[in-house]
Amino acid sequence: MLLEIDDLRAGYHGLEILHGISLSVDAGEVVAIVGANGAGKSTTLKTIAGEVKQHGGSVRFDGGAVGYGRSHLVAQRGLMLVPEHRALFGSLTVEDNLRMGAWGKKGRTGFSEDEILDLFPILRERRQQLAETMSGGQQQMLAIARALMGAPRLLMLDEPSTGLSPKLTWDVFHAVNAIRDRGVGVLIVEQNAHQVLQLADRAYVLESGSVALDGTASVLASDARVQAAYLGH
Ligand code: ATP
Repeated sequence: MLLEIDDLRAGYHGLEILHGISLSVDAGEVVAIVGANGAGKSTTLKTIAGEVKQHGGSVRFDGGAVGYGRSHLVAQRGLMLVPEHRALFGSLTVEDNLRMGAWGKKGRTGFSEDEILDLFPILRERRQQLAETMSGGQQQMLAIARALMGAPRLLMLDEPSTGLSPKLTWDVFHAVNAIRDRGVGVLIVEQNAHQVLQLADRAYVLESGSVALDGTASVLASDARVQAAYLGH
């Protein structure tokens, strides 16, 4: 497994939010984390990225331990987080944002700039536009495209559908499919369980900082508990 998390406990200011989470993601696999507001989905991604303190358990990426406060080193090893608020350089152009993404690539080869622009044709058209003047969907695409410039081996996406229409969400998911096909592992957090369970290979349902259910996405999508809680059935 590319990413292996075992019995992870983590939180803020001594308060435990994650109560022993175990999950894994392999290369070329899309794994979803779904769950209600406040279940700890973002905290899970941030802990994996080294931004939140671990209280116990372990996070291993490509066989090596990942620890708190070393997020830039984690990115250099090929584990990249696209945060929910995208963190783009608003006053820079699309093209400059992409170039900044290549920082820290450290000899790994991945997608070329041209291949990335093929995945998101709208960004090619808007190369010279300032990031802050683009729509939410375009900014989401740019945030993912910028992460791809760093040649990730594992890409973590925090609520990429936030603020997007279902149609734009599918456009983003279509690109995620292509990224998986290139052998990159993808860990994606979503409140919108309905759409993401159609994209993912496997999923984990998080409730109050613990994994309540996990399995293949298709099995979870037809699970009565998941349908009642997250799919509005
Ligand atoms: P959402 O969809 O609302 O982001 P989530 O499942 O991603 O939900 P988290 O953002 O991980 O949930 O939040 C889990 C818990 O941790 C919540 O109770 C939240 O208030 C708390 N929390 C999140 N960030 C911080 C922080 N920086 N400091 C203190 N508590 C935090």
